[in-house]
Amino acid sequence: MEILDGKKISNQIKEEITVEVAQMRDRGEKVPHLAAVLVGNDGASLTYVGSKVRSCKKIGFESTLIHLPEETTEEELLKQVAELNANPDIDGYIVQLPLPKHIDEEKVLMAVDPDKDVDGFHPTNFGKMALDMETFISATPFGIMELLRRYNVETSGKHTVVIGRSHIVGRPISILMSQKGKAADSTVTLTHSRTKDIKSLTLQADIIVSALGVPNFLKADMVKDGVVIIDVGITRVSDESKEKGYYITGDVDFENVSQKASYITPVPGGVGPMTIAMLLKNTLLARERHNKA
Ligand code: NAP
Repeated sequence: MEILDGKKISNQIKEEITVEVAQMRDRGEKVPHLAAVLVGNDGASLTYVGSKVRSCKKIGFESTLIHLPEETTEEELLKQVAELNANPDIDGYIVQLPLPKHIDEEKVLMAVDPDKDVDGFHPTNFGKMALDMETFISATPFGIMELLRRYNVETSGKHTVVIGRSHIVGRPISILMSQKGKAADSTVTLTHSRTKDIKSLTLQADIIVSALGVPNFLKADMVKDGVVIIDVGITRVSDESKEKGYYITGDVDFENVSQKASYITPVPGGVGPMTIAMLLKNTLLARERHNKA
């Protein structure tokens, strides 16, 4: 069994980006600038946005954090989005989800300029991704693909079972892995909460991408020997014995499933760090495109 070490690979990617950014600076070019909009004080969102901004600083990007109060109206947020769209200094930006309940998430995401949509959530970018066109692929599925590519995991002709059909993970990864190319060419089965007898499907799978957010969902008796496991789940479980009062776990019973797997991602340290690295990669791509424009 080999660990698909997302922390190691994400650090490699960040080092590669750091070199490119230094070269941009040496040539007197503008360096990539990522902005993040955070509404409210959700603990997990604060952590995610904080680590995205810190990563920008480390690799030489410029970054701007726009932290708005919980009571921000939809209109105010849309005004902020319009300002970011119009600001030539910003190459790409993200609106951290989830948004407070009184704001229509879809309306906000639709307002993001697709050329600055480094999260790849806008229908223009999602549509291009589905049609094999060059675009911003959303960071988590992009990170999974990159991890599979860099470990040379064979996916061609394999049966991949994806658990979860969300717009940000399950749906896009099922499309990407069924396309032609490296880390793809797979025969994909997409499952969800209405799927009957998931176990009968996971037992046939050569590769399983689990993205449902239920700790310990995928157990050893649900997988075959040699399976490749990509555990996307991130759940905070309360635990007073931990310094932070919780620990992070994925969807997979790692201890037992890893004994049957050929490759497996740990949680934390698997898909999570790859997601941040690919967001940075998308921001670099945005800068390069703006340079050419
Ligand atoms: P989501 O929007 O809540 O979607 C969950 C999906 O799982 C849904 O399609 C749901 O089916 C399905 N599901 C729920 N319970 C199920 C069950 N018992 N059997 C089969 N399918 C079931 O979640 P998400 O945004 O995709 O996130 C999934 C997990 O990944 C979460 O833990 C999240 O924190 C994590 N995540 C991690 C990263 C990262 O960087 N590593 C990034 C994004 C998300 P229905 O559609 O039928 O409801």
